[in-house]
Amino acid sequence: MNIVEIIEKKKKGNELTSEEIRYTIEGMLSGNIKDYQMSALLMAICLKGMNAKETTELTLAMRDSGDVLDLSCIGKTVVDKHSTGGVGDKTTLIIGPLMASLGVPIAKMSGRGLGITGGTIDKLDSIPGFNSDISDEEFIDLIKTVGVVDAAQNKNLAPADKYLYALRDVTGTVDSIPLIASSIMSKKLASGADAIVLDVKCGTGAFMTDYQSAKGLAEAMISIAKLAGKKCIAVITDMNQPLGYAVGNYLEVREAVRFLAGKEQNPRLYRIVVELCKQMYKLSDMYTEMSDDEVEEIIKYAISSGKAYKKFKEFISGQGGDVGFVESLESAVDVDNISYEYRASKSGVISSIDAELIGRASLALGAGRVNKESEIDLYAGIIFDKVVGDFVNEGDVIATLYAASGGKLEAAKALIEESVSVSDSFSDSDIIIDVL
Ligand code: URA
Repeated sequence: MNIVEIIEKKKKGNELTSEEIRYTIEGMLSGNIKDYQMSALLMAICLKGMNAKETTELTLAMRDSGDVLDLSCIGKTVVDKHSTGGVGDKTTLIIGPLMASLGVPIAKMSGRGLGITGGTIDKLDSIPGFNSDISDEEFIDLIKTVGVVDAAQNKNLAPADKYLYALRDVTGTVDSIPLIASSIMSKKLASGADAIVLDVKCGTGAFMTDYQSAKGLAEAMISIAKLAGKKCIAVITDMNQPLGYAVGNYLEVREAVRFLAGKEQNPRLYRIVVELCKQMYKLSDMYTEMSDDEVEEIIKYAISSGKAYKKFKEFISGQGGDVGFVESLESAVDVDNISYEYRASKSGVISSIDAELIGRASLALGAGRVNKESEIDLYAGIIFDKVVGDFVNEGDVIATLYAASGGKLEAAKALIEESVSVSDSFSDSDIIIDVL
């Protein structure tokens, strides 16, 4: 076997065998296959695609390049949820404890944010003491004792993906469905859950901006999961506007706490939480023959009764976090950052808030990373007083921006202004676009 023949084969659009795919991944990691050869192959995959079998083989080769966690000792179906990334997406913080409060074991390995997409581990880092750098033994122990765990992806989780992603990033080969699907699923399969609910975001603030490509990505990931023997459901959700009221790490944890404590529940956030939890419940051992409405009632009761919030605090303290700090988040924002109030320049209804521009504004404020090495300000971000569909009078505060310096606030102001449209009318759209 030789890499030049493999590149030629893909260049002509032919199917690669599993031996060829494994040979390539092993050769890349051992250094026998050079970066320029991998880059040529990645471009050929981008242009010619891969079928479901090849995509699964690639995923499995990437999964097997590092540690694969065995969670069979839990003795129950362990469930995971993965979002393809968006702006203001704090659902993982809410959903993990909520499902655990219903007796569904949740094992999650999360990433850090990059570009306009936030990462759950950065959000959790804003809680003093919270430790996401835990061993496999601690990971398993927390699933058994608390019922929910969220750890940073360790260095040896699908190392082939880290290598490939770094190459894709600098060779214009990120936006390929087989490459994105295999990248995401290799990490999901290595982190051991038996059932996965995928939240595939679609819109300006997401990788996939239109329905057809979001559906294509969702189908590719479902096919990989099924061929790898996992249960999987994908929910396609709207990411044309930020999710909820807050964007930024500390601010999003605060929103999640306020949501669970029943203080403030953004309707779109509530809707997506209930839908994703419903699908997770249906994949779990807790599910018996019952209607969707009955499952929804169980989930809504977990929120309204405070069971989910109680479990959230157990989850935070289980990983060393300060529960007193969590409780303090139920009230006003308490940060040293300076702020700026963005006000409506005319009266009307907010017809859109562009998620991509808000993601860029949050980067400008310091809440996100431009590249993997950038430092982030955990306390920077945006809180919306008004969201799409709300009426505003001229002069009403639409959003408050938080940053460490006036320069950063200035940089974000223009983006905020561009992102918000105030009109005479707006058309409502459901955040849940499809369930596959
Ligand atoms: N997230 C990943 O983990 N990989 C991709 O390729 C895209 C999004």
